[in-house]
Order: sequence, then C-alpha cells, then structure tokens
Amino acid sequence: MRALFAAVAFSAAATLIWRVQVGLSPAIDGCTLDGDGIRVRASSHLDSKGRLHEGRAATCSDERARSTVAAAKSALSVMPSGLRPEAIALHVMSRATDVVGVEFHAPSGALLVEGVERRTLDGSVWLHEIAHVRLKGQRPSGIIGRRLVVAVEEAVADYFAAVIGGTPRLGRDEQGQPLRDLSAPPPSSAAAWARYLMPGLVADPHELGWRLAGELWSLAPADRSLLEDLVAMLSSRRPFSDEDGAAVVAKELLQRCPPRSRERLRAALRRWTWDGLVP
Ligand SMILES: [Zn+2]
Repeated sequence: MRALFAAVAFSAAATLIWRVQVGLSPAIDGCTLDGDGIRVRASSHLDSKGRLHEGRAATCSDERARSTVAAAKSALSVMPSGLRPEAIALHVMSRATDVVGVEFHAPSGALLVEGVERRTLDGSVWLHEIAHVRLKGQRPSGIIGRRLVVAVEEAVADYFAAVIGGTPRLGRDEQGQPLRDLSAPPPSSAAAWARYLMPGLVADPHELGWRLAGELWSLAPADRSLLEDLVAMLSSRRPFSDEDGAAVVAKELLQRCPPRSRERLRAALRRWTWDGLVP
C-alpha cells in the first residue's frame, strides 16, 4: 500500500542529531550507516510480485540514506522505550520518484523510502510508519478478518502518531494542510465498508482507519495507557482462530486488549462498525 503523505521540511533536531554523529565518525566516506537498531540499505527494489530485494549497505556518502536515517532517529527519539520497535530496516529504493514517501512493507516488515533528497517528510509520517513496525504481530488468515485488522492497524498507527506527536493533525500536503485530522474524520458509511470488505476488490484501509482513529481520539485524546494497550493487542503473537468473519475477529481483538482499555475499545469499535457486529 502506498503512503498517502506528502513532504515538508526537515526538523532542526534531526539535523542536529545527524551532525553530532558525523562529527564523531573518523572516516565519513567509508562509514556505514547501520547502528542504534537501524539497518540501512541503498538501491533496494521491489519486483513485480512485490518482493523486496535488498540493495547494498548504505554508507555516509549516500545523501538520501543519511537524511533518511536522521529523520527516522528523530522520530525514534520521541518514542517511549516500550513503544519503540527493537529494530528497524530502512530501504532507500532505487526508483527516484518525485513523490517523497516512506511506507511500511508488510511482507518484510521493512520501511521503504522513495523520493528526491531535498524534501523530507513530516515527523508524524515517520511516527505512523514506524508504528507499523512496532505493531507487527499475528493476523487472521481469512480475508474478511484480515482486512478488518489491517484497518484497525491503520487506525492505531494514526492514533500512535497523534499521541506521541502531540497533535491529531497528521501529515502535510503541499499547501501545509494536514492529510488526516483525527479531530475531523470523514463520516462513517455503509458503502465504504461494503467496498472495503468485498473480496476481489483492491482494498485501501486508510480512510476507514482514519474514522476509527477519530473515534479513539474523541474518546481518549492523547491517552498513553490506551495506546500501550492497543499496541499490545496488535503486536500479540497469539494466533487467531481459523474461523473467518468480521464478528469473530472483532471479538478476538477485544479479548487481546488488556482489560483496563477493553470497554473504551469496544465503544470505539461499535461506533465505527455496523449494528450487531461488536459484542
Ligand atoms: Zn499506515
């Protein structure tokens, strides 16, 4: 799935972090960018089946890789340790497009970075995408249940970016307007659900995820304990049952959510879905 966010200027803090590290490096041209739990590859590519092919180890002379690492480190630096992924794989893709983007590649669990060097992404985009790395856990095998959880994951990644970043306004378009505002999500619609869950149609989970993120934000704006519980729920390695269906999976999600947040999640899921789905 493509990242939806556009680009804006790069934070002074990230630049500072990078300068300090370069300053400590004895041989800038030869040094590798791997370190601090981040692994960086340059000139990686996806094949026609969406499989990731790793490029070479990125070095300090790779400008795109350098700014990518600095931006990722800036986002990691504001994440509490329990919410930070243990390790991140960053791939600067060989295709140099005009669209600057970072996206989570679910099959490999890596972050893919595309786009021109001079523009970098809003910090909330990095928080959202790194959240996907942290949220990697078991997913249902059936298509309906899986799509439901993928949309919940988008919502939790948005809520994560909003809570940690301290604002419900996520991403920036070229006019500086937020791409998703959790305090003003689009209205729910039965048609959006029907389209999203229809097997055979390409399903984009971002808009439905935005709606649920809006429900979470209106119930509990910037609530760290709810965020921790949602992360625990989605990163669980416990297998889902083999039975497919939205109702079965909604029930299993509630069971995975720690008890202190379960009723808030239930309320948000009820408002987000249709009558009778959520027990
Ligand atoms: Zn996402």
